[in-house]
Amino acid sequence: MVEEKKGFFRGLIEKISGVVLPEDSKTTIPDVETTAPEVKQTIPDAKPVVPDSKTIVPEGPDKTVAEETEKDARPGFFERLKKGLTKTHANLIGRIDSLVLGKKQIDADTLEELEEILITADIGVSTAVELIRTLEQRLKRNELKDGETLKKALKEEILARLSWQTAPLDTTSASPYVILVIGVNGVGKTTTIGKLASRFIAEGRKVILAAGDTFRAAAAEQLEIWGKRAGAEVIRHKEGADPSAVVFDACKATIARKCDILIVDTAGRLHTKVNLMEEMKKIRRILGREIPGAPHETLLILDAATGQNAISQAKLFKESADVTGIALTKLDGTAKGGIVVAISNEFKIPVRFIGVGESVDDLREFDPAQFVEALFQ
Ligand code: GDP
Ligand code: MG
Repeated sequence: MVEEKKGFFRGLIEKISGVVLPEDSKTTIPDVETTAPEVKQTIPDAKPVVPDSKTIVPEGPDKTVAEETEKDARPGFFERLKKGLTKTHANLIGRIDSLVLGKKQIDADTLEELEEILITADIGVSTAVELIRTLEQRLKRNELKDGETLKKALKEEILARLSWQTAPLDTTSASPYVILVIGVNGVGKTTTIGKLASRFIAEGRKVILAAGDTFRAAAAEQLEIWGKRAGAEVIRHKEGADPSAVVFDACKATIARKCDILIVDTAGRLHTKVNLMEEMKKIRRILGREIPGAPHETLLILDAATGQNAISQAKLFKESADVTGIALTKLDGTAKGGIVVAISNEFKIPVRFIGVGESVDDLREFDPAQFVEALFQ
């Protein structure tokens, strides 16, 4: 791993914890199971022994992060989103620009070429075909005079498809509100939880995090670092402990401390692993028994950089895990951002958040109009 290439936060986490976090892993195999990515403990002998059930009570958000957040806020909210979508913009809009450059009129051939661009930009075959059909109708009605009107029409059609399922996560609809976070390894579950915790705490909510990924010690440690930063209590057990026991303790703590939100981290899993899906059912059962209506949200995390694999994962989890919302991470650094359109259009599950970077304010509530604007600009 080359030092300069590391994100600021990854470097920071590694420095604090001595844990080398996994590189942006390419979750390319949908039927991959839960083998943990090689997380190297660089200073194992310096590590304190973790008691059986440990609760870290934070002393409030830590300074370095506040400073980092301030620094990161500088370029402006929209500009940062735009910057995060640079590669997708180049892959999609850049190619459309070249296609229509100097074209006096738009014809059926242009639309055919556009369809190919849309498909290779990971908008998905069915959504691409659907978009082109609509544009063909507009062409027949003489609405597409030139490249600019074509782009404008495409932008409108994409926005319409992104807006169908939009619904921001409403964590005030229950108290305490429980979010169960699921997805395969390396997609950004723990990171997203950390970012969410910071966001909720900044809004004045009291948050508890449950380290349900007991598969590897590094996972709980990573969550603790995020928890400490955000000012959220983290409930964890020893590595290899029963995740349901962690969840049980976390529910008790949530109620005892009158917390507003409990977020449960889990180990990466897929529906093909029967025992892991059983474990998930047990977690859900305990949540529902201890806190009425819980989990209120089952948030599936998908790595946008995996393109079509993210689609297969969404399909598999939708069938087996009662997913109620999706967060798409790592939109920065990938040209496959078109996947947001495919996911929004093909699944009847709202995209709640998008991740456009590794730092704490790089998790955005998904706003279709803003997204399309940033993408097309
Ligand atoms: P988990 O195994 O699902 O819990 O995944 P992690 O939360 O450990 O994340 C895996 C890697 O992805 C880490 O290096 C994160 O910093 C990185 N990551 C998560 N979200 C984003 C994002 O939106 N953008 C970028 N560039 N990296 C991200
Ligand atoms: Mg994790």
